[in-house]
Amino acid sequence: MRCLMCDRTITEESLADFFRETDVLCTECRSKWKRIGRRTRFAGVPAFLLYEYNEAFSDCLIQFKECKDEALKPVFLYPDRRRLRWMFRGRTLLLLPSSREKREERGFSHLREMFEILRLPMMEPFEKREDRNQKQSSRKDRLKMERNLVLRSDASIPKKVVLADDVITTGATMRGALACLPRDCDVMVFACALTPGKEK
Ligand SMILES: [Zn+2]
Repeated sequence: MRCLMCDRTITEESLADFFRETDVLCTECRSKWKRIGRRTRFAGVPAFLLYEYNEAFSDCLIQFKECKDEALKPVFLYPDRRRLRWMFRGRTLLLLPSSREKREERGFSHLREMFEILRLPMMEPFEKREDRNQKQSSRKDRLKMERNLVLRSDASIPKKVVLADDVITTGATMRGALACLPRDCDVMVFACALTPGKEK
């Protein structure tokens, strides 16, 4: 088996490696990703985050998303797939939106590809509000950030959900999605990576 990033052969060096869960990246490539891998909270909601967003993670994500290298789709969740399936059992994944232009440009939903390994129900119920007014006061900007997403008119949100994204950068999109959900919704937040310093 070959590493999906560097194409080196993945070898089992010891008996422990033989029994360990196989990975689709070699140890060297995987070790460049800085793991968080724990339960935390984001905007007051239970959250689970896998990695810190660093250069190695970013390189891989760009290769997958922008260069449409679909072979890379398992690298993000493969080692954690069983744990995540268990943690999110009974929930529907609500995938956060990209802007329409990005989606049309790419021609594929990279989040669907990334999360399909979890074999959980998935929905894309949100739409990004496109910027209408360039000149906004800072207060208006803040309000706009909080309402940067809207629910599609035909979206019916299940009771138990996971808001799922590839990266939490500023957190504005995730907060926007949280603000769209019904009050009685049982929600968790999941992101493959988090920009350092954004946890709360
Ligand atoms: Zn490698």
